[in-house]
Amino acid sequence: MAAGSAIQIPTRLPLLLTHESVLLPGSTMRTSVDSPRNMQLVRSRLLKGTSLRSTIIGVIPNTSDPTSDCDDLPNLHRIGTAALAVQVVGSNWPKPHYTLLVTGLCRFQILQLLKEKPYPVAEVQQLDRLEQFTNDHKSEEELGELSEQFYKYAVQLVEMLDLSVPAVAKLRRLLDNLPREALPDILTSIIRTTNQEKLQILDAVRLEERFKMTIPLLVRQIEGLKLLQKTRKPKQDDDKRVVAIRPNRRISHGSITEDEEEEEDHDDVVMLEKRIRTSSMSEQALKVCLKELKRLKKMPQSMPEYALTRNYLELMVELPWNKSTKDRLEIRAARIVLDNDHYAMEKLKKRVLEYLAVRQLKNNLKGPILCFVGPPGVGKTSVGRSIAKTLGREFHRIALGGVCDQSDIRGHRRTYVGSMPGRIINGLKTVGVNNPVFLLDEVDKLAKSLQGDPAAALLEVLDPEQNHSFTDHYLNIAFDLSQVLFIATANTTATIPPALLDRMEVIQVPGYTQEEKIEIAHRHLIPKQLEQHGLTPQQIQIPQVTTLGIITRYTREAGVRALDRKLGAICRAVAVKVAEGQHKEAKPDRAEVGEGEDCKEHVTEGAKPESISDTADLALPPEMPILIDLHALKDILGPPMYDMEVSERLNQPGVAIGLAWTPLGGEIMFVEASRMDGEGQLTLTGQLGDVMKESAHLAISWLRSNAKRYQLTNASGSFDLLDNTDIHLHFPAGAVTKDGPSAGVTIVTCLASLFSGRLVCSDVAMTGEITLRGLVLPVGGIKDKVLAAHRAGLKRIIIPQRNEKDLEEIAVHVRQDLTFVLAGCLDEVLNAAFDGGFAVKARVEHLNSKL
Ligand code: ADP
Repeated sequence: MAAGSAIQIPTRLPLLLTHESVLLPGSTMRTSVDSPRNMQLVRSRLLKGTSLRSTIIGVIPNTSDPTSDCDDLPNLHRIGTAALAVQVVGSNWPKPHYTLLVTGLCRFQILQLLKEKPYPVAEVQQLDRLEQFTNDHKSEEELGELSEQFYKYAVQLVEMLDLSVPAVAKLRRLLDNLPREALPDILTSIIRTTNQEKLQILDAVRLEERFKMTIPLLVRQIEGLKLLQKTRKPKQDDDKRVVAIRPNRRISHGSITEDEEEEEDHDDVVMLEKRIRTSSMSEQALKVCLKELKRLKKMPQSMPEYALTRNYLELMVELPWNKSTKDRLEIRAARIVLDNDHYAMEKLKKRVLEYLAVRQLKNNLKGPILCFVGPPGVGKTSVGRSIAKTLGREFHRIALGGVCDQSDIRGHRRTYVGSMPGRIINGLKTVGVNNPVFLLDEVDKLAKSLQGDPAAALLEVLDPEQNHSFTDHYLNIAFDLSQVLFIATANTTATIPPALLDRMEVIQVPGYTQEEKIEIAHRHLIPKQLEQHGLTPQQIQIPQVTTLGIITRYTREAGVRALDRKLGAICRAVAVKVAEGQHKEAKPDRAEVGEGEDCKEHVTEGAKPESISDTADLALPPEMPILIDLHALKDILGPPMYDMEVSERLNQPGVAIGLAWTPLGGEIMFVEASRMDGEGQLTLTGQLGDVMKESAHLAISWLRSNAKRYQLTNASGSFDLLDNTDIHLHFPAGAVTKDGPSAGVTIVTCLASLFSGRLVCSDVAMTGEITLRGLVLPVGGIKDKVLAAHRAGLKRIIIPQRNEKDLEEIAVHVRQDLTFVLAGCLDEVLNAAFDGGFAVKARVEHLNSKL
């Protein structure tokens, strides 16, 4: 059995001492190295050596390396395995060590120990023949029957395993191709054996002896498998994999061996295949998946593409190709849901109901996409959610704000590292059905960039003619989006790309009036906040005056989001008080307190538990419910942020209040003017756009040409207003860019006040475009502007005459609070803006609340 003419291992081998595992020729083992001698061997031999010879080491089993290098070397096991070090990985955690991957080559016997330090080196004698594997089955005749018998068992064992698992199929092939003499070692290292048994096989130097010893081990494994298969018969397919023989090649630290990982992975791939075949994907998709799966099976797991392909297949399986929820649309119920969830917004609710009614009558609706346009916090998103609720559909919100890459919508091609599907496909995966309600939030905030135009990609998604075969770049297969109900929201239509806007039906959602806000707060926001903070109405009471206080002094917005936040802040403050109170109450000898009492202290001796609300199972502290009055409001929210009183700012000539429209709703805007000695220059500040600058020039020109009529003079009494005079116009807030023609009338009024020295009425606000001839032209956003003026406590509003029709949209109680002046020319504006009128001949039309 001594080495023949085949490959020779070196006669001097460095020795690696292992204790917990046995490496057999032909198998691979991962072992952890942390003892001083073994570490030395790795460092000076494996990491420094460059020749192939230097990577061959002798692995001595059953011998533990001393923990200190000054200890004596223990008795070495007589026989070892010459091995090739394939991989060394170093780590410092939890202590310095190397993990070594070694492949066994052949047996050797130690003839003489040559040195012990820094690591043992021995003169060795090769015991097995080591040659390249060929189909030359020479030894067959030599061993005859024994080898045949062994081979039969081996084949029987392998065929009991699941041959569809690639590793098993490979093993089956190896059985035929490997020289028989190599089989006992290889099979022993694969089947379930103890270290002791492996050691015996290693020590069995004679081949015949090795065959004899291995056969019982094989038989034992076969019997074990039969038993397992019997007990798990029903789930046969899977079990073949489960009972797959477990190799015993563990690394010394007990982590999972490579083969176990591989095996688990095969389990997964088989499962994946099953899922692919049973999924309801389209035929085309199935074809692609099976092709990818075939590739996956051939790929080594370490390949980066493996994970990529796998993720792709997982996604394909998870996508809801055919899964949908059943629509349960009943218009009457829908109306109730919408009414219950939202106060006011009548126009919006009406339009949504119409939309849903048409859907009910006509199953396949290829209508326009609804787009809710309005300031933030007016309930656009939450109406979308209610629509999903009424239809019994899943709801998914896709935030488009700031999206500037078309692959955000349509996905990245799979050739990119880290490629992923777009938001639409991702959303479908998240909801798990193919007919959800998708809310495309903030379509007006899409941006263009070098990575393409996301709006163009959205077009394909939203177009009913195209979206039944929407192709995401990542999927590279058409997915039918025609069942998805898309709803869009935006703050303004101005920045929505026209092509996209064309496919949408815009429904304006205006801001709320104070009264509406109070109702919304008490019906919806406060109950929601109480629930979120674990409070009950028995613990906190917010009267309507307080809500009005929050609305007018702590918020200035079109929607109710800031109001909601402030209510949240109040609830937090109260929660602390309640928790403190409960803590106090938890102490013995305190009396319990009844519910529903006023804010005064009431101590009811021996009060019955039934008087305490069941959610507040702990006794209520004496001061319950905590009443939030205006005083408490100041304590919690700090000093008021806004003052209702705008008149203080109008206490000198040269200031007027304009009304502006922004995507966040209407705003009031102070325009200030001052004059000084100079050369007739006009200075404009406040980040104005070109249109606004032109309005300022127009206003000055009109005033100069009408100076005599109105008796306007400069500081030196001349009717030439710019003679030796500079004018400065400023529009706060200085940092916000403003543009648009609607400030024209305000600038005229402000300058007229400056040059006449008269004060503009403190409760007047105005909006309107002007012409050089002094006409007032209509402007947009009247409703939001009027609401802003109402919020700010102004009373008289000057609007262009041709905007009269817009007043109809404004709630009656708001109109009742305000006086509207419909102005057709600047004379009328000035007359209405100054107490006692401005020009004697001007005709002014006052419209009182009848509108
Ligand atoms: P948007 O999408 O318009 O910015 P949201 O839908 O997010 O606003 O609304 C903000 C909050 O205000 C939500 O909690 C919503 O329930 C509430 N809300 C807004 N309008 C109403 C309303 N009319 N009735 C009840 N709650 C409302």
